[in-house]
Amino acid sequence: MQSTTAAAESAADAAFRREFGDAFFDRLWQLNPDWAIAVGYYKYADRLIVPDDKARAAQLEQDERWLKSLHRIDPTKLSPNLRADRAILVNAFETDRWALTELRSWQWNPSNYNVADPFALLASLEYAPLEQRLRTILARLENVPAYYAAAKRAVANPTREHTELAIEQNRGALDVFGNDLERQAATANLTSAERQSFSRRLAAARAAITDYVNWLAELDARFVSGAERARSFRLGRELYGRKFELEIQSGETAEQLYARALEEKERLLTRMALLTDLLWPKYFPNAAPPDDRFERIGKLIMKLSERHVPPEQLVAAVKRQIPELEQWVRDHNLIDLDASKPLAVRETPLYKRGIAGASIDSPGPYDPGAPTYYNVTPLDDLSPERAESWLREYNDWMLPILNIHEAVPGHYVQLIYANRSPSLIKSIFGNGAMIEGWAVYTERMMLESGYGDDKAEFWLIYSKWNLRSVCNTILDYGVHVLDMSEADARDLLVRQAFQTPQEAADKWKRVQRTSVQLTSYFSGYAAIYDLRERFKRERGDAFDLKRFHEQFLSYGNAPVGVIRELMEQPAPH
Ligand code: ZN
Ligand code: ZN
Repeated sequence: MQSTTAAAESAADAAFRREFGDAFFDRLWQLNPDWAIAVGYYKYADRLIVPDDKARAAQLEQDERWLKSLHRIDPTKLSPNLRADRAILVNAFETDRWALTELRSWQWNPSNYNVADPFALLASLEYAPLEQRLRTILARLENVPAYYAAAKRAVANPTREHTELAIEQNRGALDVFGNDLERQAATANLTSAERQSFSRRLAAARAAITDYVNWLAELDARFVSGAERARSFRLGRELYGRKFELEIQSGETAEQLYARALEEKERLLTRMALLTDLLWPKYFPNAAPPDDRFERIGKLIMKLSERHVPPEQLVAAVKRQIPELEQWVRDHNLIDLDASKPLAVRETPLYKRGIAGASIDSPGPYDPGAPTYYNVTPLDDLSPERAESWLREYNDWMLPILNIHEAVPGHYVQLIYANRSPSLIKSIFGNGAMIEGWAVYTERMMLESGYGDDKAEFWLIYSKWNLRSVCNTILDYGVHVLDMSEADARDLLVRQAFQTPQEAADKWKRVQRTSVQLTSYFSGYAAIYDLRERFKRERGDAFDLKRFHEQFLSYGNAPVGVIRELMEQPAPH
């Protein structure tokens, strides 16, 4: 479709690929070896960067240099996919520059400093023989004391919440440097000098972490006694607005999205009240409905939640539903599915089991041949009460919605499309709001196509689920910009959105420790839904839903704002 002067296009494309190809990524990973390990690139794994002024200056200088060369490239000369890549990189470096110079969480968030994860990955992932990995760990261990010394110099006027988080997480980090690693090194085929050096550096690393934890605990004690004032965990209007713009990239402001979430919440509740009135006599033939709409809706949801699969049939139920969803998508012309890449549903492997639930396990960008799994965690590890609570949440109507979101046509299908136009830039810097937004969008799209026979029960449970995304946005903006209190937050989540007190307590913790991320589900969904509705209006009878979906996904994990621009380009003749 997009075939303008092919020769000129490929010249510009070739120049872009030269400048932001392998050499660019090599430099990126050199500056960010921890991030590299997380995505499966091990060339610089033996380096631990000390987070001091010099490292931050180097990062900033590199951002400026990359931005300069990106601005020299004329985006209109690039093919659509590379134009999206360019926009993604500009945003990534602008975000990094802003984070270093304006947001400055490297000062106020002590939990930024934690060495554990990359070490844990190097010790457990079998990407190379054990001895080689242990030597990498040995080299990396050398800088741990300098790392924490720099962390102590960097931390200034932190928030209490992030101080406590840092204490918690760094205490946990000690596990990584414990007996297991010591034993691995002692039994591996290392020289005795290496072995001695290993235990010395391991002990020094433990001491450095412990010192950091103690230093933070003293700081926290001064916060508690009032001897020192902590920074507020609330980001404030200005920082929040800019962070939202940089991270979400939907073309909408944080304030606009918030206003929209309030409206959407009311729309959902009105609909839920109607559905409840409709269903009430069927489920409570002998009881009058409460006057209060929240009470009424909540009672009915509780009743519907009693219908769920028995715990031992959970995995089988998911296995059965995936082909049903695929059949539905085909029969209703919603999107083309690649029959050559079937999704393997499996029980979550033991080493990956943390929280109950289901998730897509996709191959990393440096291991693209690996299969994609749909991991479903059986409930046998949970107490009967916890298992029952999980099953009530994922009742007979919610379980298919979860499968739509995670698998078909949600995350799994999006992933297949993203892999068709392989772009390391899009998989490394992919936009979270687009990815989550697509999955949330498909839930509603499937129900609109008639999946679930348009049953009132289905729409009611779906609405509760969707209300969670909407309230995440209201909560995030409310807390960080409008000073929303903890009591008001609890009222929003428990009374007005039908969540359990435990879920609300966990969410309150999360909103104190993060910002903007909680809005990504609703913002992505709303932006995609809007785009589709506008295309429908403008194209009238010529609008083709299947084609819309396929074109939307053809640009990989680009932000919805960038995709919108690419889709609005008039088709060349
Ligand atoms: Zn039950
Ligand atoms: Zn998701």
